[in-house]
Amino acid sequence: MSGPAASATKEAFVPYGQGRARGLGASSLGRHGIQMDDLMALGLPVVPGLTVPLPEAESLCEPAVARRAVELVESLTGRRVGGEDRPILLRLVASAPVPVAGLPPDVACLGLSLANLPQLTAAIGRDRDLFDAWATTLRSLGEHALGVPAEELEEVLLDHTDRRERAEALLAAIAEHGERSFPADPAEQLSLAATAMLARWATPRARRARRTQLLPDDLGLALHVQALRIGPWERSGHGTAGSRDPETGGFRPTGRFFRGVRHSAGTPHEGEPLEALPGGSGALLEHALMTLERHGRGMATVEYEIRDGEPALLSAQIERRPNAHVTVRLAHDLVGAGAMSPRAAVRSVDPGHVQELLHPQLRLTGDERMLVRGLPASPGAASGQVVLSSARAVELAAGGTPVVLMIAETTPADVPGIVAASAVLTTNGGLASHAAVVARGAGRPAVCGASALTVDSAAGTATVGDLVIEEGDVVSLDGRTGMVYLGAAGVRAARPPAELTALLGWADDARRLGVRANADNAPDAEKAFELGAEGIGLCRTEHQFLGPRLGLIREVILAGDEAGRQAALAELAKAQHEDFLELLAVVGDRPVTVRLLDAPMHEFLPAPGEAGSKEQEERAAALREINPMLGVRGVRLAVLHERLYPTQADALFSAWAELARDGIRPRLEVMVPLVSLPEELALAARQVRAAADEIAARTGVTVPYRLGSMVETPRAALLAGRLAEHAEFLSFGTNDLTQLTYGFSRDDIERRVLVPYAELGLCTTSPFATLDPDGVGALVEIAAERARAVRPGIKLGLCGEQGGDPESVALCERLKLDYVSCSPQRVPVARLAAAHACASEESEESGESGESGESRGGRS
Ligand code: PEP
Ligand code: MG
Repeated sequence: MSGPAASATKEAFVPYGQGRARGLGASSLGRHGIQMDDLMALGLPVVPGLTVPLPEAESLCEPAVARRAVELVESLTGRRVGGEDRPILLRLVASAPVPVAGLPPDVACLGLSLANLPQLTAAIGRDRDLFDAWATTLRSLGEHALGVPAEELEEVLLDHTDRRERAEALLAAIAEHGERSFPADPAEQLSLAATAMLARWATPRARRARRTQLLPDDLGLALHVQALRIGPWERSGHGTAGSRDPETGGFRPTGRFFRGVRHSAGTPHEGEPLEALPGGSGALLEHALMTLERHGRGMATVEYEIRDGEPALLSAQIERRPNAHVTVRLAHDLVGAGAMSPRAAVRSVDPGHVQELLHPQLRLTGDERMLVRGLPASPGAASGQVVLSSARAVELAAGGTPVVLMIAETTPADVPGIVAASAVLTTNGGLASHAAVVARGAGRPAVCGASALTVDSAAGTATVGDLVIEEGDVVSLDGRTGMVYLGAAGVRAARPPAELTALLGWADDARRLGVRANADNAPDAEKAFELGAEGIGLCRTEHQFLGPRLGLIREVILAGDEAGRQAALAELAKAQHEDFLELLAVVGDRPVTVRLLDAPMHEFLPAPGEAGSKEQEERAAALREINPMLGVRGVRLAVLHERLYPTQADALFSAWAELARDGIRPRLEVMVPLVSLPEELALAARQVRAAADEIAARTGVTVPYRLGSMVETPRAALLAGRLAEHAEFLSFGTNDLTQLTYGFSRDDIERRVLVPYAELGLCTTSPFATLDPDGVGALVEIAAERARAVRPGIKLGLCGEQGGDPESVALCERLKLDYVSCSPQRVPVARLAAAHACASEESEESGESGESGESRGGRS
């Protein structure tokens, strides 16, 4: 060896705790060296040790340099390696200047020899631990430093069960097959360990692995030599501990304790719980973990050793991605302890974590047999008996049986079945399909578009390849991943920690964007308000005619003459009036956006052969469309049936007038769907205004309301300025807007096109799940600009399914919309995402972390 490495002196070594004082950083000391400095600066007990800095690490392969390192550790501890009195052993650890996977494993138990075994055994009080630990070290150095074929060493381990015989046989195998015998000298052992580590770090495979992590393949290592203190086994040992209970997320040191001497690799038994820690070491460890949490503002994990009841730390780290329970409770606790600001706490929790906490999850064992995979359409998980029709779902669920509704696709007639079922699985349809929208609204887990599954409800079977499922078979479904399994998997109920409420309150303080919910009836609205919605951003009135009430709307659409239509409308008005009374009473004085009917024909017409009469059958046949999502729906239906919207508006305003007498005054917004022509909106606006005038004349109550339009077609977006002449607010319906901008059918495209597109890397996320910033987002931006130019301050919201997706919420913040509206279950996610979006906006503006700046104007 030549150059600076060979000439490394004792001074090149950096004892733990002295790195910073010498002006060294992670590029010299490695991450471990920095960590140990930090621990000492915090006043925590740390095992004595030193760092061989990055440029010098190779020098430790030289016995002379290793000898000086051993001497320095001995002088730091005041003890001798393998010595007579209070002996120590050594451990060699490697670390890089940056986080990297694939660091060579540490080598412990260095300094042990047959000669010093008796005194070490005497210090511990038994020899089994020493022999076990030594065997792993001999096995590792034999192969990686002395060139003994791995099979020879494995043979020895197989052949010998007696611990002493095994160690002696390993020594013999090394002597026979290795480049030299295993040395007794601690310094020589240390130099072998350094050689082994650096060799493992330099293999072509290890270098390739670094390249795949986008790191230089010649990334250097710092080496660290630690003193392992030896003590009586009843009061000495080692282990790992974390600061948080992973189940509850609360602060509770959790880990294992192993008596005896530290091994190089994992210990061969499970160890004991931390309650077994001797003396007061448990309390000291707890103190260390608490200190680390507050300092590092994260869940702390440590490697520790206990000698004679006294703990010392061998390493520590802050977990960057702990589970959802831990993240939320930790953030809350750190604010309580004054170690973090509420805003930083909000930023530390990923909105996806909130989703996880609010929904049940499958407890998978790994032995489950997958049935099929589809799109993760509505979060949550459930197990239940397969039913192949909505009617059967209602029937079985009424008797208390949990069922999974397996169906090709759903229509409004299936809503009672979706609501009764514990989960829904469809073979067709995407994230914005009927089943997905209704399941999300009702809080049922759903997997949609599982195209490998074929449902034959007439035969009472469903098939995937050769596998036949019958009604009554049990399946388990995970709406978060889209996976469906055969049989009953355990389901872990959602247990959101109480601390989540405070955290979401801080998020509310930090966000600008309003968060409303899409809710069509009083129970859904109640749920949404419990979850923190500020109002209802979309009440789809056509959803009030689902299930048994489908007949009401069918009669209006299929009426044979004007008298019949008027009679049908009167019935519809009565039902709507009741619906609105219930809904508005729950809404109270919050805002509520009621969307007038948007009834795509195919969802509301009877199936062929199922109409009430021959005449209706004929009229239904005449109304059927090739492409109903682009047919007579939304405002077009109202233009063709001129009493439809006035009837609805009358039912709504009269309900408002009735409640106002009791002092309940919701902030009403009436919204016109699927507008493409400003003239359509003008016509609908005239109808609504006339209805309001009529109510004022009839009841003496002037109902305050705003009139607005959905922006769901590219033309509406481009003509938003002209829409704004008639509209006091606009709401972006990004389900249809995405469908029409891409020309992607919201019901079919995901499984047929987006899955293969994702595999080809053409389009990696569904624009129905995450708002497309380039196309759909650009249209929203243009529309917002044009609408504001005509009507400054016009209220702008978004109510497509993307409203509950964190990335889309961030885009809405960038476009400075006023609110997003999403399904009730996603409201907490949107609240947190809106706060995150605000924080990143602030930091972009101020060029810092987003801690400053308070703006919460213009909400909802
Ligand atoms: C939309 O299109 O985004 C929307 C909210 O309306 P719907 O899903 O009812 O078509
Ligand atoms: Mg729509």
